[in-house]
Amino acid sequence: MATEHQHDVVIIGAGPAGMTAALYTGRAMLRTVVVEKGEPGGELLNTEYLDDVIGFPKILGRDLAEKFATHAQHFGAEFHNFVNVHRVAKLPDGTFETTTDIGDVYRSPVVIVTAGGIPTKLGIPGELEYAGRGVSYCAICDANFFKDHVIAVAGGGDAACEEADYLTRFAKKVYLIHRRGEFRASALLQKHVFENPKIEVMFNTVAEEVVGDPGVGMTALRVKHVVTGEQKLMSDVTGLFVFIGFRPNTGIIDGHFAHDEMGYVKTDDAMMTSIPGLFAAGDVRSQLTRQVTTACGDATTAAIAADKYLKGLREAGNGASDSKRAKEAIETSHVSGGGYS
Ligand code: NAP
Repeated sequence: MATEHQHDVVIIGAGPAGMTAALYTGRAMLRTVVVEKGEPGGELLNTEYLDDVIGFPKILGRDLAEKFATHAQHFGAEFHNFVNVHRVAKLPDGTFETTTDIGDVYRSPVVIVTAGGIPTKLGIPGELEYAGRGVSYCAICDANFFKDHVIAVAGGGDAACEEADYLTRFAKKVYLIHRRGEFRASALLQKHVFENPKIEVMFNTVAEEVVGDPGVGMTALRVKHVVTGEQKLMSDVTGLFVFIGFRPNTGIIDGHFAHDEMGYVKTDDAMMTSIPGLFAAGDVRSQLTRQVTTACGDATTAAIAADKYLKGLREAGNGASDSKRAKEAIETSHVSGGGYS
C-alpha cells in the first residue's frame, strides 16, 4: 500500500552531495529524509580509490560512502534506500510532493535535488546489446573482468584518460579512441596517458560498431578514422569502456526550471533553482567542474540556504505558500554576511 511521509527537507539522491546536504539539514534539526534509488554512495561506489578529498590522502570510494552516510545519520537524517523517485512537483500551496514509482508520497516545503546523472551512450550498433558483456561505463566495477584482455576506451575528457590509465592495471593493452586530434582532459591526466606504455592513443577515430556473438559477448570493435574514412575491425578488442560524458537526472523535476544547454540545472549562488524552495547540488547542477569536494561544498550551501528559506517561511507566517518572502530571507542573510555555524 502507498505511504505518505512529511518532512522539512526531502533530499533526492544519496551521493556525496545528498549525504552532505543531509548532514547539514540534520544538524540544523530539520526533519530530513534522503531518498535513494540504490545504496548510499552514488558515484563513490564506482570509484576505487580517491586521493583528492581533503583529509583522506587515499580512501576507497565505498569506505568514504559509508563514512558519509554514517555521519549524516548521526545528525538524524533518515535514509530510504532502494526507492525510485518518479517526480517532484511544486503544488499550488507552495509545498513539494515527491512521488516514487510505487506511488509513495513525500511532502515537504523544501527539496534538494542531488540525483546525479547517467553516462552518455555512443549510440552505435551493438553497444546496448553487449552492455555488461563487453561494453561498460564503469572501470572500477568491471575492470577485473578484463584481466589480460585487449580493450578500448572511448572519450577524450578527464574520465576517459583517467580510466584508461586505471584499466591498464588489468588489461594487457588499452586503445584510447578519441574523435578529435587532441584531448580535453587535464594536462596531468594526459601526461599519465602518454607516458603509459600499455596505452595506444587513436586520435580522430570513432567507434562504429560493437561486434559480438550473442552466446559469447563482445568479440571485436569496428572503428573508423574520421579524416581518412578508413574503417578497421579490431578483432583483438574484447571490451569497450565508454566515457563520453554524463546526462543529469533532471527528468524527475516537474514543470519548467532554468537549465544550461547541456540540461544541467542552473542555480543561484544559494544553490536554489528557478523554482523557489527547490535546491540542487552535485552532478545535476550546471558548474565548472564535478568533483566530490565541489559537490559537498555546494550541498553545504544548499542545506544552509534551505534552512534559511524555511525560517523565512515561518517568519512570513503564511505557511508554505509565501516562497517569495522566504527566498528574500536567504538574500537578506546573504547581504548581511549570513553568519552560520
Ligand atoms: P567531458 O569532459 O565532457 O568529456 C567527454 C569526452 O567525450 C570529450 O572528449 C568528448 O569529445 C567525448 N565525446 C562526447 N560525445 C561523444 C560521442 N558521441 N562520441 C565520441 N566521443 C564523444 O566528460 P568526462 O570526461 O566524463 O568528465 C565530466 C566532468 O567530470 C568534467 O568536468 C571532468 O573534469 C570531471 N572529471 C574529473 C576527473 C578528475 O579530475 N580526476 C575525473 C573524471 C571526471 P570532444 O572533446 O570532441 O567534445
